[in-house]
Amino acid sequence: MTTKVPLVVIVGGGFGGLAAAKGLKRSPVDVLLIDRSNHHVFQPLLYQVATSVLAPGQIASPIRGLLANQTNTSVMLGSMTGVDAASKQVIVDVDDKTGIRISYDYLILATGATHSYFGHNEFATFAPGLKSLSDAESLRNHLLEAFEKAEIEDDPDRRKALMTFVMVGAGPTGVEMASAIAVMTHTTFRKDFRRIDPRSAHIVLADMGTRPLATFSEKLSEAARQRLVSLGVDVLLGKPVQSIDADGVVIGEERIEAKTVVWTAGVAPSPAGKWLECTVDRAGRVRIQPNLSVPDHPDIFVVGDTASLDQDGKPLPGVAQVAMQQGAYAAKSIFRKVIGHPPLPPFRYFDKGNLAVVGKNFAVLQSSGVQLSGFMAWLVWALIHIQFLAESSLKFSVFMQWVWTYLSDKRGARLIIRQRSGS
Ligand SMILES: Cc1cc2nc3c(=O)[nH]c(=O)nc-3n(C[C@H](O)[C@H](O)[C@H](O)COP(=O)(O)OP(=O)(O)OC[C@H]3O[C@@H](n4cnc5c(N)ncnc54)[C@H](O)[C@@H]3O)c2cc1C
Repeated sequence: MTTKVPLVVIVGGGFGGLAAAKGLKRSPVDVLLIDRSNHHVFQPLLYQVATSVLAPGQIASPIRGLLANQTNTSVMLGSMTGVDAASKQVIVDVDDKTGIRISYDYLILATGATHSYFGHNEFATFAPGLKSLSDAESLRNHLLEAFEKAEIEDDPDRRKALMTFVMVGAGPTGVEMASAIAVMTHTTFRKDFRRIDPRSAHIVLADMGTRPLATFSEKLSEAARQRLVSLGVDVLLGKPVQSIDADGVVIGEERIEAKTVVWTAGVAPSPAGKWLECTVDRAGRVRIQPNLSVPDHPDIFVVGDTASLDQDGKPLPGVAQVAMQQGAYAAKSIFRKVIGHPPLPPFRYFDKGNLAVVGKNFAVLQSSGVQLSGFMAWLVWALIHIQFLAESSLKFSVFMQWVWTYLSDKRGARLIIRQRSGS
C-alpha cells in the first residue's frame, strides 16, 4: 500500500482504538482501523443484553458507520496475528486469506483483553465470561432457557439446580449481573410462569476477596453488599472456587448445584506483548513508556486494556476512561510528530470516578473525594452511560428503553435465539 501521507494503522475498534481514530480526524495522515469484528461494543452495558433489558443492537455500532464521515480513515475487517516491527508491517488474517502484510508508519495497538481463568482454563467450558456481544447473547439464551426448563422439570433437585445462578467474581460485572438477575426474577418474570416461582431463584455472588467491588472504598463496598443481600443475592466472600463442572461449582468446601455459572472474575490482555516480543507486566500487558510508546519502538503505541502503565506508583486500571484518554493521547502524539511539533508531556490519566449499579434505583459512585450510594448515584450512572454510547440514535433508543423498563418492569429482549437443527 503506497501513501503520500504517513499511514497510521490502528488495531482494535474498542474504546481506545476508536478514540485514537477520531483523534486523527484532522491530521495530515491516512488511517486504517483493523478490527476482527465489524462493530464497536459498549461493554459496560453487556450485562443488560445478557439480562434482556437491551437488545444487542442498542449497545453496539458498526465501526464503518462510526467513521463514515472521516474521509482520511478506512476500516478493515480482519484479525491481527502478528507484528513485524523491523519492517514496520502488521500481519492480518482476513477470512481465508492468511498472513496479509500491511505496512505502517505509525501503529496503535488497542486490542483489549479477554477472560482469564487464572490458570484454570478447564472452567471456561462450564463458566462462560461476558466480554463480547455474542457472549451476552449466549448468556441471555442460557438464562432464559434455564427458566423454561425449570418450568417443565418435575424433579425438585434438578429444578433447584436450574434456578441457581452463580457469578464467580464480585467486581462490577459480577455485582451488576447478580443484581440484574435478582431484579429480573422479582419483576418481569413474576407473572410469566405457572409452575415455578421465579422469585425462588438462588442467586450467588462468590469471590475469594473479602468484599464486593474491592476497587471502591470499604464504605461503598458495604453499601453494595447490603443492597445485594436485600435483593436476595447470596454473597459468598473469602472462599476460592475449587472446581466447576456441568452441574455446579465447589466454593471453599461447599458444593452448589447450579446449571448456570458465569465467570466475572478476571481478564487477560490480548497477545500484543507476544506480537511485539517486548517486556510485559505480571498480567501479560505491554509495559509502555510514559508517552505510551513501546520501548525502542517510538512509532508503536499501545493503549487501553492491553497496556500497562503506572501512575503515582500504581498501575492504571483496565477501564474505558483510561483506554479513551490513552487513545486520544496517542493520536495527538502522532499528529505532533507528523507536523514537526515538540512531543507532548507524559500521559496523565484524569480519573473522573467509578460507578457500579446494584439493581434498580441503586448505584455506588466514587469520584475525587465524593462517595455516594443509592438513587442519586443510580441517576448519575444512567446519565453517564447514555452520554458515552457511541451514537445519538443509541442514546435515544437506550434512554427510551430504560424509561419503559423502569415504568413497566417489562423486558422486550427476552428472546431465545438459537439455530435449530433440521427444518
Ligand atoms: C462486562 C464488562 C463491563 C465493563 N464495565 C465497565 C464500566 O462500567 N466502566 C468502565 O470504565 N469500564 C468497564 N469495562 C472495561 C472496559 O470495557 C475496558 O476497559 C475497555 O473496553 C478497554 O478498551 P480497549 O480499547 O483497550 O479494548 P476493547 O474496548 O475491548 O476493544 C478491543 C478491540 O480490539 C479488537 N481486537 C482484539 N484482538 C484483535 C485482533 N487480534 N485483531 C483485530 N482486532 C482485535 C476487538 O474486537 C475489540 O473491538 C467493562 C468491561 C466488561 C467486559
